[in-house]
Amino acid sequence: MSASAAGVVSRTNGKSRIDSGYRMSVSEPLTDGHGRRIEDLRVSVTDRCNFRCQYCMPAEGLPWLERAEILSFDEIERLVALFARMGVHAVRLTGGEPLVRRDFPRLLRMLAAIEELQDLAITTNGFRLERDAAALVAAAGSSQRPGGGVRFNVSVDSLQRDRFYALTRRDALDQVMRGLACLAQYPQAHPIKVNAVALRGFTEDEVPAFVELARHSAYEVRFIEFMPLDADRAWTSDQVLTGAELHAMVDALHPLEPLEREPSATARVYRFSDGRGRIGFISSVSEPFCADCNRIRLTADGRLRTCLFSLNETDLRGPLREGADDHELERLVRDAVWRKELKHQIGEPGFIQPARTMSAIGG
Ligand code: SF4
Repeated sequence: MSASAAGVVSRTNGKSRIDSGYRMSVSEPLTDGHGRRIEDLRVSVTDRCNFRCQYCMPAEGLPWLERAEILSFDEIERLVALFARMGVHAVRLTGGEPLVRRDFPRLLRMLAAIEELQDLAITTNGFRLERDAAALVAAAGSSQRPGGGVRFNVSVDSLQRDRFYALTRRDALDQVMRGLACLAQYPQAHPIKVNAVALRGFTEDEVPAFVELARHSAYEVRFIEFMPLDADRAWTSDQVLTGAELHAMVDALHPLEPLEREPSATARVYRFSDGRGRIGFISSVSEPFCADCNRIRLTADGRLRTCLFSLNETDLRGPLREGADDHELERLVRDAVWRKELKHQIGEPGFIQPARTMSAIGG
C-alpha cells in the first residue's frame, strides 16, 4: 500500500484504485476546449537514452535530469491512476529510452494493475529487448485489457548495419533485431510495430527492405515523418520525406489498399493488396492529424504537455510533492487540458520549435 497525504492507492487482488475520500467527478471525461476527449497519455519515464540518433541528440548526449528530478514509480502510478479515472484508458511508456530506467518492469506491473487502463504500450529502441522481453511481458501479465498484455513500438530507422550505425551512433542493429525476434514469440506482445523515422536522402534506399520486413514478418512497419524536435535545432522542411512520397514508393513495389483510419489514430495504415502484411505512414508534418487528437504527455520530470509542440507546460511534480490532494491535481490537469492547442503550426509563419527536445518529451 502506498499513501500520500491526498490519495491512497489501495491494491486488492492486484488491482489498484484511488481511495482518497475525495470523489473525482468521474462522470466528467477529460475534454479540451475544442471538444476533443482526451483518452491517451504518453508517459516519459526517463530523458536518458543509450542511443545517439543524429536527428535527435548530439553524440555526447544531453544534460540529463538528476534522479531527484524525475518522478518516482509511486508518483507515476498515482498520476496515471488519476488520469485513468478521468477517462484516459490508453497509456504509452516512452523515454528517452524507457528500458534504461532501472527496474522498469516493476513500474509496468504497477501500471498494468490499474483497472481502468485498457491499453498499455511501450515505445523502445529495442536495444534491451533481448534481455527484457520476457520480464516485460510477464510484468504486463494478462488482464482485462484487449490482448491482455502490452503493445510495443520498436524504433528501427535502417535495416543495414552500417547505415544503422551511422544514424544511431551505435553498432546495434543485430541486437535490436534479435530483441524483436524474442518479443515476437509472445502472442500478448502483438501487434508489434516497427517505426522508422523517414529522412530525405537516407530512407529512400531503405524502403525495399522495410517493405520486405512488413510482408514477411509479424511486424507492422510505419514510416514517421521527421519532426522539428531535434536537439541540434537543424530541422528544415526539405529534410522531410513525406508520407505521400513513401506511399508512392511502396505502392510501386507492391500495390497498397487503404484500411479504415481508427479515430484519433496517428498512422494511416494500408494492406498490401495481395494480403501480405500491412504498412503505415505517420505524416504529422505534411498531413497533420490534430483535428481528432486525443493525446497528452507527462514528462519524466512531471510536466504535463498538452501537445507534442506545446510551448507551455503545467508542473504536476511540484504540487504532488507539496502534498496536493487529488482534487487539486485534477483541477490542474483539467485547466491545462482545456487550453490544449488546436493543432501544431509547423510550416506556418510564427512556428516556434519547443525548447524541450523529442528525447525529453518522449514522442
Ligand atoms: S501535434 Fe499536437 S495537436 Fe497535433 S496530433 Fe500531435 S499532439 Fe495532437
